[in-house]
Amino acid sequence: MKLFNTLTRNVEEFVPNVEGKVNMYTCGPTVYHFAHIGNLRSYIMEDVLEKTLRYAGYDVKRVMNITDVGHLSSDADTGEDKMLKGAKRENKTVMDIAKFYTDAFFADCAKLNIKTPDVVEPATNCIDSFIEMIEKLLEKGYAYQAGENIYFDTSKLQNYYVFGNQNEDELMVGVRDDVTEDTNKKNKNDFVLWFTKSKFEDQALKWDSPWGVGYPGWHIECSCISMKHLGEYMDIHCGGIDNMFPHHTNEIAQSEAYLGHKWCNYWFHVHHLNDQTGKMSKSKGEFLTVSLIESKGYNPLAYRLFCLQSHYRKPLVFSYEALDQATGTYNKLKNRITALSKDGVVDEAAVAEFKAKFVEAVGNDVNTSMGITLLYDVLKAELNDATRRAIIGSFDEVLSLDLLKEEVAAEPVVDAQLEGYVLAKIEERKAAKKDKNFELADAIRAELLEKGVEIKDTREGVVWKLI
Ligand code: AMP
Ligand code: ZN
Repeated sequence: MKLFNTLTRNVEEFVPNVEGKVNMYTCGPTVYHFAHIGNLRSYIMEDVLEKTLRYAGYDVKRVMNITDVGHLSSDADTGEDKMLKGAKRENKTVMDIAKFYTDAFFADCAKLNIKTPDVVEPATNCIDSFIEMIEKLLEKGYAYQAGENIYFDTSKLQNYYVFGNQNEDELMVGVRDDVTEDTNKKNKNDFVLWFTKSKFEDQALKWDSPWGVGYPGWHIECSCISMKHLGEYMDIHCGGIDNMFPHHTNEIAQSEAYLGHKWCNYWFHVHHLNDQTGKMSKSKGEFLTVSLIESKGYNPLAYRLFCLQSHYRKPLVFSYEALDQATGTYNKLKNRITALSKDGVVDEAAVAEFKAKFVEAVGNDVNTSMGITLLYDVLKAELNDATRRAIIGSFDEVLSLDLLKEEVAAEPVVDAQLEGYVLAKIEERKAAKKDKNFELADAIRAELLEKGVEIKDTREGVVWKLI
């Protein structure tokens, strides 16, 4: 497998720490609102990465956090806590908001066939380990207390900007968000590990700590949660490109200061889904969610295909015209595939050959559009339908587009128990008619009708259907 690594800015051969095993971590959602389809682009592409690794034979363990505390509206540690903002908006408690939007997130993921990671851990579960890590950072001299908050001291690091030279725009987060800078910070990029002196007195969730009652900063959760489940050495860390700075930069700073050695080898960043005006976000433009596109009649899997048609390292522009096009492609592709007959003997050698091609293609830095092209190659190849089905079914373990799934018939499905009951009633009615007991015959017809079954006397006998 080959992967582009943001740390080296190169496509590299992927070599895990332990042969055959992959430790993988994904920054989870901040559960103060629905995920928009931009967030979900990141999760779709990370899902494909995980499934490609599994397809290639790796034993993968994937962990995801749920951010339910500490993420402020500005990445420069200022602004309002996003969770509190959500709770105020809906007049609910922070915990209610967290539960509701965590469930909504996984419901959206299910519609997009995104697998739930092996471990999902909310930040509020792990406060003790955050405190322990912060204590060690203080002990080692990488953190300081100022204005009653605890900060990470970025000047203690040889190279804080691990992802290379960030441009001015990326470094000006605080300014860009038009908020006042925190004057407690010794250096511009220092970040909060623990808040006690908060300017938001109504912060809902607070915990005891050696530095007073307070709550954690945003970045600490990912370092702690990943180490809790994956240990001190990680293979792949994923997230959207906006997380590269400051979130991931800070995660690396504190993790490596804490551990005293390199932490994660490969950084996988998904580029943004944009709308006509730029990066899609929850606060601007039409708030595009899975439910919204469904309510407009789109199949969420057509959106998944739309994402898979382009490379994760390129920005992708969303428009309804583009989604219409993806829908057309999805429907045509699916019609061709479901029309394949099920007869014939599967040519196992051909299946193995195509599987290898798929690993080669998609395993080359998650080249999903090559994976889609291979589907067409299978449809064109000189193979019997059973073999085509077997290969496509196998590709779909990674693409997850439900390519072989027959649509459920629009007509109601009759279960065996109902059928037995109807046939017995028809026999009873026949006997009643023979006895000239038309009253009973009519009563039986009415009883069936009440159960949603309509019967008709024809020359061929009695026929019935569900209404
Ligand atoms: P959040 O819920 O804000 O913590 O974001 C969840 C994930 O979505 C993170 O990995 C973000 O980097 C990613 N993300 C945010 N906006 C976009 C976007 N417009 N396109 C793709 N990914 C995004
Ligand atoms: Zn994170």
